[in-house]
Amino acid sequence: MEHVLDILIKIQNLDHEIKDTKIQIDKIPNKIATLEKETESTKLALEEKQNRMQDIRKTYKIKEGDIAENDSKRSKLNSQTFAVKTNEEYRALINEIDYLKKANKKVEDEMINLLEEEEKLKNTIGKTEAESKEFVNKKADEISELKRNREELIKKLEQMKISFDEYFNKLPDDVTELYNKIKKVRGNVVCLIDNETCTGCYANLTLQFFNELKKKEEILLCDNCGRILIYAVPNE
Ligand SMILES: [Zn+2]
Repeated sequence: MEHVLDILIKIQNLDHEIKDTKIQIDKIPNKIATLEKETESTKLALEEKQNRMQDIRKTYKIKEGDIAENDSKRSKLNSQTFAVKTNEEYRALINEIDYLKKANKKVEDEMINLLEEEEKLKNTIGKTEAESKEFVNKKADEISELKRNREELIKKLEQMKISFDEYFNKLPDDVTELYNKIKKVRGNVVCLIDNETCTGCYANLTLQFFNELKKKEEILLCDNCGRILIYAVPNE
């Protein structure tokens, strides 16, 4: 009988390990998804800065064009001032020239602001690029580590299932029947006991019952929860 009880302890331990391993395996895809999201948002943050940089350069070029256009308009108007016949015409030309001057001044101020922003952005992009590369590499390592880990756990799980079946098939038929019946209702079938309490339902056991358990002569069930109780010293 002690042999059967030992097998029951082994399959119970394997049952726990199989459950734990399944939980670990199931958690990994979520962990990977989180890391991938972190990687994605880091890349996006860098891209945003790079896009802004391109915008700045594009806008700067457009403004350069505006200035050149205004300048050529102005020099045309300037040459016209020599040909005007009346004071009114002259004043109108001068007003227009003034307006273009002011417009250019405004555009130039905007260009200075863009240059300042570009300068600041250049510094942060350099830093962000380095940090982002490091971060993305680190996360990629973590992801492949998790994938490797998952493969290992799946292999381990398969092996544990095989061992479980091997042990289970060694049990006498009446015991496997009993095992399956309890499993259906309770999940955990076997409780290891080292004092007068059922570790499955925390019911108190009588001293006499506990002494019977210690003898390991037969399969004993908890009166309260019906699980198989086996006497075992902790960490045995
Ligand atoms: Zn119990």
